[in-house]
Amino acid sequence: MPPRTRSLNFFSSLLSRKTYTLNTGAKIPAIGLGTWQSQPNEVREAVKDALLKGYRHIDTALAYENEAEVGAGIRDSGVPRDQIWLTTKLDNTWHHCVEKGIESSLKNLGVDYVDLYLVHWPSSTDPNDKSKHLPDWDFIKTWQDMQKLPATGRVRNIGVSNFGIKNLEILLNHPSTTIVPAVNQIELHPNNPSPKLVAYNASKGIHCTGYSCLGSTNSPLYKDPTLLALAEKKGKTPQQVLLVWGIQKGWSVIPKSVSKARIEANFEIDGWTLSEEEVNQLDNLKDRFKVCGDDWLPIKVFFGDDE
Ligand code: NDP
Repeated sequence: MPPRTRSLNFFSSLLSRKTYTLNTGAKIPAIGLGTWQSQPNEVREAVKDALLKGYRHIDTALAYENEAEVGAGIRDSGVPRDQIWLTTKLDNTWHHCVEKGIESSLKNLGVDYVDLYLVHWPSSTDPNDKSKHLPDWDFIKTWQDMQKLPATGRVRNIGVSNFGIKNLEILLNHPSTTIVPAVNQIELHPNNPSPKLVAYNASKGIHCTGYSCLGSTNSPLYKDPTLLALAEKKGKTPQQVLLVWGIQKGWSVIPKSVSKARIEANFEIDGWTLSEEEVNQLDNLKDRFKVCGDDWLPIKVFFGDDE
């Protein structure tokens, strides 16, 4: 085999460089850096550290109140903008002003476009009273405005987050829906594996990104004996095992960290995989917990259809 071909094949076989092709043809990197709860004074460095390590996917949101620092971290890294997959999200209180929402995010981030813009939650919350849903608005109207964005060039792909099957059905069956979401970003880890929702997304050509893929802050998973034994057997950290499990299951993962050492370790997922039996072991953990429920929202958004 000529050396050039061999090195290209080798490169594409690395999990840290893996991408998934979306229904738009765009390629989303399988691993990215999450930034929820990353404080403005720490996230700039974290984003820079991640990009210098080799990450090419950064996940943020207007609601995280750190977009400006995320943008500064991208610029500090010196990695060209066109080599980075950047996701941000429309806040619940901005559903009725999508145009203002994306303009605000682009300005905060200091970029001309984002690769992926997500409806953060299927809740059109009243900005004047967050305990109320807007009386004259819903996510169908929000999606109508979202669909206008790709043509402007400021948003390359549009998607949703925290949509269960019921809300996806409502969205996909509505006559005004002409663009199927490219991504549904949902909570995915072995204690919340959501096989029905994952299968539903796949059946509609919607890629899943798994959030809280390590189980989030103070993750109960770090005490799970099956995971710990598996990590020890593989000579890997429990976090690396969780990330490889997610990627082998077929979704992208966006672990959050603000520690340079942990950001780097989480990216060291090349050169090994989990066997089918090892994947099954993690599929079959019995404990269940959910990091993000819907009790803080003015409406219910999960109906047992996110399992
Ligand atoms: P994660 O599952 O990524 O876990 C993050 C926690 O794990 C932090 O406390 C972090 O601490 C710690 N951690 C990270 N790496 C290691 C390691 N190697 N060893 C030990 N501890 C580690 O949680 P998130 O809930 O943040 O989810 C990931 C991302 O998903 C978010 O940051 C956000 O971008 C997105 N998200 C989206 C949501 C949505 O509604 N769409 C909801 C929730 C999250 P430390 O920083 O100190 O390393």
